[in-house]
Amino acid sequence: MIPSLAHELEREEDRLLRETVRQFAEEKLRPYAEEIDREDRFPREIFREMAELGLTGLMIPEAYGGAGEDLLQTVIAFEELARVSPAVTLSLLAHTVLAGAPIARWGTEEQKTRILPRLARGEWIGGTAYTEPNAGSDAAAIQMRAEREGDTWVLNGSKMFITNGSIARVLVVYARTDPEAGHRGISAFLVELPREGFSASRDFEKMGMRGSPTSALYFDDVRVPADALLGELNRGFYMVMAEFNVERIAISAISVGILRETLEWMLEHASVRKQFGKPIGAFQLIQEKIAQTYADLELARTYLYLAARTYTPDRDLRLASATIKLFAPQVATLRALDGIQVLGGYGYTREYPLERLARDAKLNEIGSGTTEMMKRVIARHLLRSWGLTELDG
Ligand SMILES: Cc1cc2nc3c(=O)[nH]c(=O)nc-3n(C[C@H](O)[C@H](O)[C@H](O)COP(=O)(O)OP(=O)(O)OC[C@H]3O[C@@H](n4cnc5c(N)ncnc54)[C@H](O)[C@@H]3O)c2cc1C
Repeated sequence: MIPSLAHELEREEDRLLRETVRQFAEEKLRPYAEEIDREDRFPREIFREMAELGLTGLMIPEAYGGAGEDLLQTVIAFEELARVSPAVTLSLLAHTVLAGAPIARWGTEEQKTRILPRLARGEWIGGTAYTEPNAGSDAAAIQMRAEREGDTWVLNGSKMFITNGSIARVLVVYARTDPEAGHRGISAFLVELPREGFSASRDFEKMGMRGSPTSALYFDDVRVPADALLGELNRGFYMVMAEFNVERIAISAISVGILRETLEWMLEHASVRKQFGKPIGAFQLIQEKIAQTYADLELARTYLYLAARTYTPDRDLRLASATIKLFAPQVATLRALDGIQVLGGYGYTREYPLERLARDAKLNEIGSGTTEMMKRVIARHLLRSWGLTELDG
């Protein structure tokens, strides 16, 4: 086991969960991780097995059949799964953190009772649709419309890059309910699928995270009942900003999982591979990569656990969540590439998982807010606290 101060932030129940998820990941997921990537196939049978273990109920309250809304436990589970398959973890994140958590937080009793137990049991797959073809980083610019007609809402527009979009049974969909009101005119809706007027594109062929389906979604006069509104009318932008706190912490756990797996492969290979009559671990240029990877892992993981442990829905963790989301994804990509280097020609082949991890790692610098946007969030937060008011946008 790699020594880590982060373990001091764990409670007994966290250690038990880690052991259970680690065993599952090694025994049930690892044998298929490479195939899932190669065939770009969402593994429904593994999703079902994760449900049996309670993992589809992460971030869903126990009262609705979930595993509870403990973010540290979620982070630990994602880290263990992501060591083996970041792609499967990303789809689980969309299901639990992007769908389950906001429904638990903003849903009416009726919405929660109808949807959450099904998500927790893994009967339904969930996701969130915010991004649009013309609105990515500029989240306030979404154009999709929701218009009230009698006792229904009529949705028109399209969404882009939606994780689980083609397999979801329920989506949290954000749409404009007041075209004149900018970010104060956006609301969230629960769209249960299939539904007339709704269609998904074929899944995009991606560089990484293959096996986690990503698609564009089209809404052509899609009608949902009046009670499909999630949370308050015109508060959708604030809801999504609040959910970003959880999402950015959770997605950083995937980067930490990648860092850990990378370091373990580096240590293994550096110990056994001999060149010039010595294990390559004896060479300082290899040691440098090991040391840097350990330092990045340790700093990312300790900060991640601290942020996750201090999280409560009412706490403003914008700065902390942007900080970990800025750091962990970047170092995960860099160190996964270093991992390939340590393994030399072997690292470059698909016989070893490092090239897959490097491809998967890159997504986290884009999804859930890009690296550039994290820098913007952090700098603006600090400058505002320093009294600067002339900020762009
Ligand atoms: C695999 C995958 C899964 C995804 N899953 C989901 C999902 O489930 N639900 C969902 O709603 N969305 C999802 N997304 C969308 C994701 O959140 C967006 O891709 C992301 O927010 C960036 O938006 P964009 O792609 O439109 O890039 P853009 O916003 O167009 O950015 C392009 C470049 O410009 C930079 N840039 C933009 N504005 C600024 C600025 N003000 N200052 C400096 N630089 C700037 C960006 O950092 C980036 O480098 C997913 C994306 C991918 C790739």
